[in-house]
Amino acid sequence: MKQFSPLVLSKRSRRSIAFLSAFLPALAFSQAAQGAEPFDVWLQGLKAEALAKGISAATLDTAFRDVAPIGKVLEYDRKQPEFSQTFWTYLNRAVSEERISRGKALLRKHAALLAEVEDKYGVQPRFLVAFWGLETNYGDYTGGFPVIAALATLAHDERRAEFFRAELFHALRILDEGHIAPAEMSGSWAGAMGQTQFMPSTFAGYATDGDGDGKIDIWGSLPDVFHSAGHYLASVGWKGDETWGREVKLPPGFDLDLTQLAIKKHISEWQALGVRRANGADLPAADIEGSVILPAGAKGPAFLVYQNFRSTLVWNRSILYAAAVGYLADRFVDRGRLVATQPPGDKPLSRSDVISLQTNLNRLGFDVGEPDGVAGSMTRKGLRDYQRARGLPPDGHPSSEMVEILAADPG
Ligand code: CA
Repeated sequence: MKQFSPLVLSKRSRRSIAFLSAFLPALAFSQAAQGAEPFDVWLQGLKAEALAKGISAATLDTAFRDVAPIGKVLEYDRKQPEFSQTFWTYLNRAVSEERISRGKALLRKHAALLAEVEDKYGVQPRFLVAFWGLETNYGDYTGGFPVIAALATLAHDERRAEFFRAELFHALRILDEGHIAPAEMSGSWAGAMGQTQFMPSTFAGYATDGDGDGKIDIWGSLPDVFHSAGHYLASVGWKGDETWGREVKLPPGFDLDLTQLAIKKHISEWQALGVRRANGADLPAADIEGSVILPAGAKGPAFLVYQNFRSTLVWNRSILYAAAVGYLADRFVDRGRLVATQPPGDKPLSRSDVISLQTNLNRLGFDVGEPDGVAGSMTRKGLRDYQRARGLPPDGHPSSEMVEILAADPG
């Protein structure tokens, strides 16, 4: 649900959103007219449908006052990142010492509220604060875009019109129910809102009034923020009596085909296969299942991950994000500092590196589809097959070393 907005505002600057909405529509306007219909014509149809869905005319008038497509939103939507981060570059930024120490202080400061949320939803305080820290740096960066205008831009645009049209109706209903004033409804360029960065549909499904004032304010009310996050996580299978996972050590010759989320085994089975805690000790004797993953490839840390890791992936489907949430939560309680370290030469792959890797896999008979510079599941599978065929550790991990090996392979 989360899409980071490169344009960010501190919570203290929420009042300046009116100012931002005044100048944002002027940016990069040439890209704005992407819909089949002119925006104004499209907007009339949208409003008619919203009225038919029961949104009041007064809400529609206020919500769409001075709304125009935002060029910057389309720019972000079209933007392809030049580099994909490595596990280490991501983790070092996401779980910084500064973020750890601030999170520890916030855990103490909000202990009573967090305990109340844990009682109700079974999500441990350290994880609630870790999500908060990763989403918005504890409420600092909630995104500086006016949500209605951003969603209208993307719903009018043809690329993902249907998805954003549905989100826009949810956003209008939030306004209609009076949870937040239109000028205060800020979010990321893609409409992820407030301190939890909930999309409007997630808000509709899970956001909760934690302080009992009758409004759900995930922008400004911490009880609402934490109750909403707890409710969402509980709804996607969070287990309050389990942790997220742990770093583990694999025995020499471990079958790397077992290192995928699709393969779940009881902890005792992993123990029997030689998997140990990172310090070499036996795995815990808990009655739970987990998967072994290698988010940085065979040369990086291995993790045994449990149900809460999977629940985190429902919140945000990035493996790196999910590992960072768990790791940050561990570091708040001085646990789990990684034994593995960033190897020398670890560097982000550029899009052209990934395209080279994909092109060479195709050339060598390992079909990964049209090279697109994004290492998705098909690329990783093709890479695994290639590594297996060449007697390399089949971790399917796109590294700069693999880019070089593939380029030099005469086939
Ligand atoms: Ca409230």
